[in-house]
Amino acid sequence: MLSPRVLFDPSTLATRVADLAAEIRAAVPEDDIHFVGVLKGAVPFMADLIRAVPGGVTIDFIAVSSYGSGTSSSGEVRMLKDVDASLDGRHVVIVEDIVDTGLTLHYLQELLRLRNPKSLRTACLLSKPSRRKVDVPVEFIGFTIDDRFVVGYGLDYDEQYRNLPYIGCLDG
Ligand code: 5GP
Repeated sequence: MLSPRVLFDPSTLATRVADLAAEIRAAVPEDDIHFVGVLKGAVPFMADLIRAVPGGVTIDFIAVSSYGSGTSSSGEVRMLKDVDASLDGRHVVIVEDIVDTGLTLHYLQELLRLRNPKSLRTACLLSKPSRRKVDVPVEFIGFTIDDRFVVGYGLDYDEQYRNLPYIGCLDG
């Protein structure tokens, strides 16, 4: 297996995730925050993020299909697993690993907005703005990156590399 080149090491990730947690709590100062993690890529980010947010927090997960087993998007989004709990009247934050074309996030935001949350925000660890096909609002972004394929810290290539404690790239 190829060794990805390190883009963001574990301590850089931890520092930025702690900052994001503080930004999110500042946006919702007094109420519970309901985090909806997008499986599977957001799992490590979500686990670190929620532990850095003080106060009341609840969590849920949703799964949609985005990429197949390659590195290019089909543009088709399909629901694989819905959230378990109602979003009605809650302060919801979608937690996503990376926003690329924005198609997945656009689909999720439209879907979850219909569930009548009190507020709906999005936290993405990474963003590739040059790849955007649809303009999606993302209130909390960890890092903005160029158009390159990244793996690690939840992000996969053909289901591999999710366990790397850093974010790296395979394409040089
Ligand atoms: P979008 O719908 O914004 O094009 O794609 C979002 C999804 O595509 C992400 O949740 C992620 O699963 C996948 N994706 C996009 N860019 C990358 C990348 O650089 N590396 C990996 N591993 N997955 C990516």
